[in-house]
Amino acid sequence: MKAYRASLLRFADDQSPVFEADGLLVVGPDAKGQSVVRAVGDHTALIDRFAGVAVEDLRGKIIVPGFVDMHIHYPQTDVIGAPAAGLLPWLENYTFPHESRFHDVEHAREVASFFFDELSRHGVTTALTFATSHPACLRFITGKVLQDRHSPDGVRDDTEQSLIDTEDLIQRWHGVDRLAYAITPRFAPTSTPTQLRGAGDLAAKYPDVWIQSHVAENLDEVRWAAELFPQSRSYLGVYGDFGLLRERAVYAHCIHLDAADRAQMAQTGAVAAVSPTSNLFLGSGFFDFAAADAAGMGYGLASDVGGGTSFSPFHTMLAAYCVGREGQSKTGLSLTPGRLWWLHTAGAAKALGLDGVVGNLQPGNEADFVVLDPKATPLLARKTSQANSLDELLFALIVLGDDRVIERAVVAGQ
Ligand SMILES: [Zn+2]
Repeated sequence: MKAYRASLLRFADDQSPVFEADGLLVVGPDAKGQSVVRAVGDHTALIDRFAGVAVEDLRGKIIVPGFVDMHIHYPQTDVIGAPAAGLLPWLENYTFPHESRFHDVEHAREVASFFFDELSRHGVTTALTFATSHPACLRFITGKVLQDRHSPDGVRDDTEQSLIDTEDLIQRWHGVDRLAYAITPRFAPTSTPTQLRGAGDLAAKYPDVWIQSHVAENLDEVRWAAELFPQSRSYLGVYGDFGLLRERAVYAHCIHLDAADRAQMAQTGAVAAVSPTSNLFLGSGFFDFAAADAAGMGYGLASDVGGGTSFSPFHTMLAAYCVGREGQSKTGLSLTPGRLWWLHTAGAAKALGLDGVVGNLQPGNEADFVVLDPKATPLLARKTSQANSLDELLFALIVLGDDRVIERAVVAGQ
């Protein structure tokens, strides 16, 4: 066992943030040998119970749950910041050419290594990602992209073989160490009905496997989906019609949904990966937080690199705040700092069906956490030292924070 003395942030069952100014976090193996949180709370109240345990003194730092990124593309690491006029030209001119290079295993391995370093450098310890390879360590859910039409040579796959490959990868990787599989149609327009049907059949056969795709990001894309699938009620409805809406189904964006779509998300248990830096960068639109809450649909935050402009959870939380202010009807919505932080940690884990596993620092959670330096820059030091409330402290970090704040990411106790 090992203990850390620092300020601590975690979340209560009612989603509210809990902060200990002088806290103690004790981690150690559970019955299965997995490194988990054994105890957490006020230092004075806990220290006698753990008298023999080595304590690392991190006073002045803040330990927070590892961030959970609900949607990111590992093969788009080098696409970040590509100048393009909206989603479809961005896919055609940058994304597809970049992704076609990933038949080269050496290239894929080099990008994967950089990608994982970059995630942990930014404090992200769980990710649901569009990807093609499966390196171990972080809690990582990924899947081979399915796209058998409307895609150039080099990224387009074969309908029948793509489904055989997907099932083979599920059997090889799902549940191995901290890895899990996600059935991954890129988005409805780039899959034939046969491929979507096959994906839905696999989703029914393997109910604890995740599903990930995109929906209703951009109006041109919405129109295209309507032309290709005229029999479906809506773009989201396409996925429902092929058996791809259920719990553990994660749809990036969900901007241009209607009330019936949101009700369908809530009823089926499918959730949204809200990707605000991507949506602002590509001019796709604003996720409607209030309508999502009213419908009772689940969601959490995501970077969507390379459409997103940063690996940093701080940048994503700030962009989500801006989207709430700018995008909601009438007066604008101010997401609280605690809510923003929850949506990128415990809330994202809950949306993924991983609550109680990652994204929080309650006893039994896997020992994934991040040590923050609230004085990482002169302005942060000045702002955080003046904070009179938890909201003020968290918001200073959200607005001014970046990778310089992340002093250390601890993954599975390491
Ligand atoms: Zn995406």
